[in-house]
Order: sequence, then C-alpha cells, then structure tokens
Amino acid sequence: MKRGFLKSAKAQKTFYPAEDEEPVPDLFKQLVKGTKLSYGKVKEAGRPEGYQTKGVEMKETAAECVDHPEGTKLFTTIPIQYPDSTYEDQPVGWSECFISADIKRMIYETPGFGRSPPSPNRLNYRIESTPNMGLGMFAAHPLKMGDLILSERPLLVVPRSMTMSIGAPVGFTPEQYRQALMFEWEKYLEMAVNRMFPENRKAYYALANNHSEDGSGRILGILRTNGYDVGGDFYDKKLGKHDGAYSATCDKMSRLNHSCRPNVSHSFDIASFSFQLRPVRDIQAGEQLFYSYCKCDQPAAARQKALEPYGVRCTCESCLGDATESDELRTHITPRFMAIQTAYVHWLQRPPQQRDDSVLKPALALLSAFERDGLHSNRYYSLLLDTIREVYSDLGDKESATKYARLLRACSIACTGSITR
Ligand SMILES: [Zn+2]
Repeated sequence: MKRGFLKSAKAQKTFYPAEDEEPVPDLFKQLVKGTKLSYGKVKEAGRPEGYQTKGVEMKETAAECVDHPEGTKLFTTIPIQYPDSTYEDQPVGWSECFISADIKRMIYETPGFGRSPPSPNRLNYRIESTPNMGLGMFAAHPLKMGDLILSERPLLVVPRSMTMSIGAPVGFTPEQYRQALMFEWEKYLEMAVNRMFPENRKAYYALANNHSEDGSGRILGILRTNGYDVGGDFYDKKLGKHDGAYSATCDKMSRLNHSCRPNVSHSFDIASFSFQLRPVRDIQAGEQLFYSYCKCDQPAAARQKALEPYGVRCTCESCLGDATESDELRTHITPRFMAIQTAYVHWLQRPPQQRDDSVLKPALALLSAFERDGLHSNRYYSLLLDTIREVYSDLGDKESATKYARLLRACSIACTGSITR
C-alpha cells in the first residue's frame, strides 16, 4: 500500500483499491467471508511467519462519485468532508466508511439522504461507571416505550467480514490463516481510522477492547467488542444478508451493556446516516439501559456461549438461578405464537355473537410471559400486540383496542424506526 498517499492533501476523498487484473495464484488461499475469528487467549497470537499478501494500490476519486467499477470497495466519509470542513460542522458526527460501490450508491440514492438525524428535546441518558460492567448508559429521566433516547452517527462502518487472498507455506494451520487474516484486516481498518477527525479517532481508541489476547489488532479488537450490525437494507445484495452485512461502531451506544432482557433497541436511518436508540418498554429514571449482544430466543447456556467472544458473562434474571421456565419460553416462542394465531383464525370464522375470550386469555397470558422474561424486543411480542388489538377490535372493545394499538405503534418505532401499522 502507498501509505504516504494517506497523508496527502486529498486524503479525505473517496479512494479505493485499483482493479486487480492478475489471477489469484494457486498458492493463495481465499479466506472466505464468514471465517470465524479467534477469541480468548490464543497461544501464538500475532502475525504468523512466512505468508504473503498481494500489494494493493489505491486509486482516488471525487467524494461525490457513485459510479465505481463493480465489486470495488471504497474508503469514504459520510457526510462528505470538504477541505474546509470542521468537526463541529456535524453535531451528530462523521462516519468513516469502508463500503462497497453498491452500498455507496444505495446510500446516495436513498430518498432524503443528507437530512439531519432526529433529535430529542433534552438529554435523555447519562454515561456512568457501573460496579461490574465498566461504563454503562443510564436513563436520565423516565422514558416511554418508543421515545427517542438519542441519535448517533457511527464512527466507523465496515463489512462484518472480509475476503482476502493470503499466500501461505504448505502446512499453515487454520489458526495461522486466521491470524494472518486478522493482521491484514487491521491494515484496512487503520486506513479508515487514520482518515477520522482527531476527536473521532480519540473516541474510537477510548472504547473497550475484549480481544487483546487473540491476535486482533487494536482497531479490530475494538470493532469486535463494540460493533453493531447496521441491519435493515444496509447489506451487499449480491452477497446476501449474512455475508454482505456491515458492522458499525458508535461512541455513545458502545457504552450500552448486554442483557438477555434488553430494554432498548435501535434502528438505522440511511437518509440521516444515523442510529436511533429507543426504549422497548417504559423505563424509570436511573435504570441502566441494556441491549442484547446475542439472539435472545435460545436457552441460557447457548446465550452464554454466544457471549464468550464479547468477554461477557451475563448475570441477568433470565440467566441466573433456575432458567428452566425462561428457557422453555425462549425456545418455543414461534410455536406458542403460532398456536394463538391459528386459534384466532378459527375464532374469526365463528358468528360474532359466539366470539368469547378463548383467544384473548392465552394471548394476554403469553404477552405477560414475554414481559416477565424481558422479551419486548422480540418480533413476536409486536405480532402478539397486533393480534390482541385485532381481537379487542372484533369484540367491540374500542378502549382496549386503542390501548394495544398505541403499544404496537411504540414497539414498532422502537424496534424498526417506523410504524408498521
Ligand atoms: Zn442473560
């Protein structure tokens, strides 16, 4: 790489690796997307001896350009950073991105792109030390489900995984390949971080790193500890939702600790290029805000396993003590919801005068079970709210139907950023 190039006056323009016309030699092994990286204490962490990588030459183009060669990956700043731009020009911040040409085009063609992120009318959170989880984010006031806690533009947006060509001697172990991959990935991440405003770079390096012993470089370690899936439509369509996913690292939202009973959710608004963080239930002033780092619809033991790469041992109420009841619910969410949905369809086929509370009772009981186990952000929670609303409406109970319609609206905004009904 031409490292000096990055220090040139034009460094903040979009730039990208030149198209590679040479075939990949047999010696080179393509490390495919989805390769699981090492975590924990790795014996021989660090750059392994004896492998080669292909040199990468960077090309430069105007920041506004959205017409790049197919398959290109780009370093670019969002919003566009001009030579006279200052850090203060963007109160919600700047994002350094390493993204595909397709994603860049999709961002720029999103209706309303460039608009300001929504802003709450007061500061709704505090970031403070916790006794056992490092820093955490707390509610500064009572918050209602669906309220906007904060909008935040990520510091860094990069693919969740990378494909790289690495030439290695015969006998290279899978671990050595992983170490080489992590070493090379760090170089790309460094290029993005070096383009940041000093304030953003400082904020990035101040984030927690739970990957200091597995061979991850410092930037990759912070990314692996704090990165969120951007989600929604923000993925490379040719690679699919999983392989084409992107990871975003934020400053403030990185302070959210994990719980399997999350009380907040976020959504990403491409037009304002920002996350919105919202409560998934009513929250009292002073409560710590929690996000789930893992899938919640699995048993406690599987969740603890999934949390290992984050260096987290969850002590939420659903993990501590006897998890039998919680595990039973979490592993049967879909069939339990579907049973109610099927009963509702049959119930609707009855004449109106014969419609009783035989669907309502189990639906409300399941809703309570979701709430007791902190599953407000599960998609079946909102689907259940919708069913209950419809049942009340069919029964002619307008007041209750309105109550659940309001809850559904708030839940939908909290989890997806938009109203689905
Ligand atoms: Zn837990």
